Amino acid sequence: MSLQEATVVKNAGSHYLLSALPSWDVFPAVLRGKIRLKASEITNPIAVGDRVRYEWDSDGPDGMAVITEILPRRNYVIRRSTNLSRQAHIIAANVDRAYLIVSLLFPEVKLPFLDRILVTCELYGIPATIVLSKTDLYRDVAPEQIARFREIYEGAGYPVIETSVRTGEGIDEIRRACNGCVNLFSGESGVGKSSLIKALDPSLDPKIGEISLAHLQGKHTTSLYEMYPLASGGYVIDSPGIRGFGLVDVEKEEIARYFPEMLRVSEGCRFTPCTHTHEPGCAVKAALDAGEIAPERYNSYLGMLEEDKKFR
Ligand code: GDP
Ligand code: ZN
Repeated sequence: MSLQEATVVKNAGSHYLLSALPSWDVFPAVLRGKIRLKASEITNPIAVGDRVRYEWDSDGPDGMAVITEILPRRNYVIRRSTNLSRQAHIIAANVDRAYLIVSLLFPEVKLPFLDRILVTCELYGIPATIVLSKTDLYRDVAPEQIARFREIYEGAGYPVIETSVRTGEGIDEIRRACNGCVNLFSGESGVGKSSLIKALDPSLDPKIGEISLAHLQGKHTTSLYEMYPLASGGYVIDSPGIRGFGLVDVEKEEIARYFPEMLRVSEGCRFTPCTHTHEPGCAVKAALDAGEIAPERYNSYLGMLEEDKKFR
């Protein structure tokens, strides 16, 4: 009996599909009943991206692979049924990078919404890249808005890649960045996520996922998330959307730690903890006044503090 390691690429209901990445050679495996859920609120024991140990069960007629152990997760994306729900579902684990796709038009990104999702990524420990999609629609009419958007988010520390599947802008750059990594693609409906994934690799058809999404809604056994190999290297997990959550898990004093540009300067605050609102000698407010922290980001932060009050 030999123990081997592989990555979960799909939850297929009664079984899982595994592959020993980086090779793409998918085979089914079942879960040994003994593996217990560590946190009782989690509804699924294994998620796409999980590294597992398995063995070949020679007792069965077909010699099925049996998952015996889930290796420690580097990070994971979790979704609650509702903001206040205790029940949570792990969407994906061991993600190298999240690509958050937003557009300045059709649909227009709401910065507080994007900021909430960025905070969520920081909380999960997942590096984020912002993809500004559909630039062919507004490059000519809104060059200042594009420049300002870049300034805000690159200033905060996030890479911004401008893309258009019409002109091909940015596609090669994302393809290169995805190579060798597990990449989660997330974006609200209509932002061009499916088109982008298809542009990265025409053999992938994310629309298929959409159909099964509607079909499977409400079922707990099958995960909606699946990992796909990119022909150019690396892997994509197509996600219907990382939800910015009601920050119930985060203490009010902690929220600013998930704004990298605030975290960087907050050591200089006179008081600890500091909410960076009314305290004298606040280094964050000083950086805001000096134009080193974008007022848009600071306003999102204030909004989250307010929201946080509502939940308590
Ligand atoms: P999803 O819901 O995020 O998966 O978005 P889709 O990929 O289905 O795209 C939504 C709409 O935007 C479709 O009508 C696409 O043709 C259009 N679209 C997607 N990417 C681009 C782009 O780069 N430029 C333009 N002009 N339209 C795009
Ligand atoms: Zn402060």
